[in-house]
Amino acid sequence: MATGERARDAPTGANPFAQDVDEQLPPPSTLVLFGATGDLATRKLLPAVYDLLADGRLPERFRVIGIARESDDAAFRARVRDAIAQHARHELDPALWQALEPRIGVVIGDFGSPELFDALAAALAAGDRADGVATQRLFYLAVSPTFFAPIAAALARVGLGRGAEPPTRLLIEKPFGRDLASAIELNAAIQASFDEPQIFRIDHYLGKETVQNLLVFRFANGIFEPLWNRTTIEAVQITVAEDLGIGHRAGYYDQSGALRDVLQNHALQLLSLVAMESPASFDASLVRDEKAKALRAVRPVAPLEDAARGQYTAGWVGGEHVPGYLEEPGVPPDSRTETYAAMRLEIENWRWAGVPFYLRTGKRLPVRRTEIAIAFRAAPHLPFHGLDAAAPANELVISVQPNEGATLRIAAKVPGTAMRVRPVQMDFQYGAAFLRESPEAYERLLHDALMGDATLFTRADEVEAAWRIVDPILRAWEAAGAPEPYEAGTAGPVAADALPAQDGQSWRPL
Ligand code: NAP
Repeated sequence: MATGERARDAPTGANPFAQDVDEQLPPPSTLVLFGATGDLATRKLLPAVYDLLADGRLPERFRVIGIARESDDAAFRARVRDAIAQHARHELDPALWQALEPRIGVVIGDFGSPELFDALAAALAAGDRADGVATQRLFYLAVSPTFFAPIAAALARVGLGRGAEPPTRLLIEKPFGRDLASAIELNAAIQASFDEPQIFRIDHYLGKETVQNLLVFRFANGIFEPLWNRTTIEAVQITVAEDLGIGHRAGYYDQSGALRDVLQNHALQLLSLVAMESPASFDASLVRDEKAKALRAVRPVAPLEDAARGQYTAGWVGGEHVPGYLEEPGVPPDSRTETYAAMRLEIENWRWAGVPFYLRTGKRLPVRRTEIAIAFRAAPHLPFHGLDAAAPANELVISVQPNEGATLRIAAKVPGTAMRVRPVQMDFQYGAAFLRESPEAYERLLHDALMGDATLFTRADEVEAAWRIVDPILRAWEAAGAPEPYEAGTAGPVAADALPAQDGQSWRPL
């Protein structure tokens, strides 16, 4: 592989991490991974580090320090190697690994132990001394949210928080709180140790190419933005459908549920990108100002009319018989956690007044699909005699996964002497247009964090605005009985159909 040859052939002192790079390299950096032996680190973060390295997007002076309770440098390096071999996009290249391996180390300790943080500060200083450079430090908390605030405080205590020199950043994973009150409390606790610009909250959906392309689609094409409002758009649907169940994550999922796990963060992030006004430039604070404004303009939800929930029972998905949620290992038999959630929102501003936004997510649905569907109003008058009245209005569907792309449904004449109209699709598929694989979301986000670009990370006010939207629904559901059952492999609970039905709409088929 060219990557390896370059690293092997590089003269002493040249950057073994760099190859044909057409973008800026981050400054010298140390990535400190809390939860380095966990699932997220193993499946996503460590492979993303390697993929960035293989693409020549890491600085020459780059180190990884894992925090682990039981390990040593050799055992941790072997673990990292396995994680890369199993999960990275690029095949493990022996020469690249040789360059990376000595730059991976471990610091042992429990998050609750103050000595861990003294040892970490010493390890950071030792790495910098060895490289003769002061590296910026990224602390990635791939850990349970209960540790977010204590780790932030412990880092600040050893001089690695607010005002640290060299600069530091804190990357945290969802969930950011369980409701509005806990999110406000968590933000305040972390902001006690780090300034907001140092805090990078990850919503990995924002690292996906199509999600970023949504902004390009809207703001780099002259034809869509003039149509992007209540005059032309009838309704917007955002779907995050999963065919899988909860796997072995009962402990986490049963405390969370579909509303907290997906709608509050990923789906509302997509909504904010669809609904936001154009920022003056693609700058972190300007983009996030506009997203936050869109979320703040959402009208308070009436939980009984504008939200629906369900819980899957046994059924068939992909030709396989699957158990119901209550039969999944680790789920309490009387659990009332929803595995499907939907809501109907309205945005109170001049652009969107009166346009319903329907958001839904669920597990054990017939397909895995994330998409944004913009339904345009029908043509006001059809002048064709004998027209087939079934000709539907235009629809733009932006597909986030599994196939990244966009499809515009237009009406076309069926060939022949009669004037008959049928819908046809204009299709753009990422893979076909660019003939290259999109990087994993975590690669993009790690790289942006290394560059100090916070555009694709959620700011405290966005997180709180999103909780403010779902909080009344959470409270209503806590006070109500069990969610409506739906059979695995079907499109969700019947009650969800009432959400679009009140506007004469229906969900797109899954
Ligand atoms: P996990 O597999 O349970 O890993 C937790 C990690 O924390 C392990 O490395 C564990 O070390 C370490 N740890 C726990 N308590 C510790 C302590 N007191 N002292 C030192 N180390 C301790 O969790 P995960 O699935 O990777 O998830 C991590 C975070 O990412 C969570 O907030 C989760 O919600 C979020 N997240 C995960 C995913 C995913 O795909 N997994 C996706 C999105 C968000 P040991 O190995 O020693 O136990």
